[in-house]
Parts: sequence; C-alpha cells; structure tokens
Amino acid sequence: MAPATTPRHFKAENYFNLLGILALHFGAGLALFHFGFRTLDVALAVGLYVLRMFAITGGYHRYFSHRTFKTGRAFQFVLALIGTLSTQKGPIWWSAIHRRHHRESDGPNDVHSVLQKGFWYSHIGWVLDSAHENYDDREVKDLVKYPELRWLDRFHVVPVLAYIALTVAFGGLRGICWWYCLSTVALMHGTFTINSLSHVFGKRRFATTDDSRNNWLLAIITMGEGWHNNHHRYQSSTKQGFYWWEYDFTYYILKALSVVGVVSELRVPPQKILDEGRAGNAPPFREVVAAKLAAMAGRANALGEHVREAVSMPSPSDAE
Ligand SMILES: [Zn+2]
Ligand SMILES: [Zn+2]
Repeated sequence: MAPATTPRHFKAENYFNLLGILALHFGAGLALFHFGFRTLDVALAVGLYVLRMFAITGGYHRYFSHRTFKTGRAFQFVLALIGTLSTQKGPIWWSAIHRRHHRESDGPNDVHSVLQKGFWYSHIGWVLDSAHENYDDREVKDLVKYPELRWLDRFHVVPVLAYIALTVAFGGLRGICWWYCLSTVALMHGTFTINSLSHVFGKRRFATTDDSRNNWLLAIITMGEGWHNNHHRYQSSTKQGFYWWEYDFTYYILKALSVVGVVSELRVPPQKILDEGRAGNAPPFREVVAAKLAAMAGRANALGEHVREAVSMPSPSDAE
C-alpha cells in the first residue's frame, strides 16, 4: 500500500503567510525607527536570533533534513520546538522541501533555484507558492513516524503564538517588535540567503552539478551554512566548514554538545573529499554539466556501436 500523503487543506494559508511576512517587516521597522535602541532589546534580539538560527542549521537542516548526527528523542523534540519558533513552518515540511532542493538542485523541479526562477522567487517567493505547501510522506518517512513531530509540523503556529504572547506579556508592543519581529525578520532573510545568494555569489571549491557557492560572509550570518558548495558536494557531513579556516559555529556548538553527551556520531568529510577540494577552484557548473553530458553522449555512442556490431554479427545457426 502506498504511504499516505499528509493532508494540507488550509487554502487561506498563503494569504496568511503573506500578511504575516508583511506584519513582521512592519514590526521590525517600528523597532528600529520608532522605539529605538536599548541594550536589553539588542541583546535579546541577537540572543533569540542565535538560538533559533542554531535550531534551523543544527536542527532542521543538519539533523532532520540530512540526519548527519544522532541524538535522543527528547533533544530531537527540543530542536524541533525551537525551530518552529523561527516561523519557518514545521520540521517535517522543512526537511521534505530541503531534500527536494538537493534532489533537483538548480534543475527545473528545484523548489528555490535562482537559475530557474530568479532571485526574489528563490529568496522568498517560493514560500508563498502553493506548489510547495505539500509533501509526500515517502520523502520524510524517517520523520513522520514520530507523532510529536507530526503534531509540531501540523500546529507549527502554536509555539509561535506562545512566543509572541510572551514578548507582549513582558515587553508590550516594544517587546513584540524588538524580541520577535526584528529578530525573526533578520533570521528569515539570513536563512533564505542560502537558497538565493549562496547559489549566486562566492567561490566554487567543488565541481558540483549545481551552482552552489562558498561565501565567507553568509557563513557568519548563518552560523556555518555559507559553505554551501562544500555542503552540496558532501551532504552527510555534520561539519560544513571542511578546513580549519572555514568557521562553522553550528558545528562548534554541536561538538560541545557531543562532549556532554547530548548528541553523538557527528560526521566529518572523508580525506578523499578534503583532497579533492584542496585546490579550491572548481570550474563553473555549466562547464561541469556540459562535460558530464558529453561523457554520457560518448558512452551512448559507444553502446550504440556495440549494439550495431552485435546485430550485424552472424548468428550461430548461420555459421553452421
Ligand atoms: Zn542541505
Ligand atoms: Zn543549495
């Protein structure tokens, strides 16, 4: 029997998302230009950014989407819960969409490809596209077996509302604007740069068949995700900064958590991959794709020649 597809019937969701994104930006503007700067507000906004960016990069991305390390069910839930506070929907949906990005990378079916649909669509437009609302359980069968994750995924808005309520309770309108809106807007655009800018600006260390790049600035903003070309080359590594000078704050935090036993079996790239990338400068991806297509065409020609020869050979009965 084919696995069931998770139902998503809420047709108004896209309008709700659009209004939510506009409201977030309005609140962020109020924080900066109406309420102004206070040390406590800045510290909380930055702290909540870092905490939730870690939940996205270490949790949604490196744990749920790629399963690059192990942890217990309780910490898995903590990662998922903090991840939902980022207001980027639930962990299962996020992972399904991200796995699709790697499967189809920069091809016609990629969810968010600059090459296919332009910069703004790849940055934020795709979030508002109903084509990406659904996922098939088969894409994430390792995650849908956990009822608590399914619940969070379905009701991802509940933790967000609780978070907003807390900011209002402790800080009023100023609290929601600084501690939720501004911090979340920065987090949202920070995360989305990996889908947009990381496939446009930066260096290609590895000859991948997509346009992924390594970008030192995005690696700071996203706590290590800016080494995106490394990641496209070897997705199963927890560590995305492959060499010592490629700082990867998410990995450093996960390493510290592994020392106290919260997570385990962190993966690093094998020596073969490190040697391959040491030269640093890979050709543009169009050349890589063209070379692969030429090799495939060469193999197809050789096979065709072989078949033609086989067909023209006399059969054993002819030979008698
Ligand atoms: Zn990935
Ligand atoms: Zn990518």
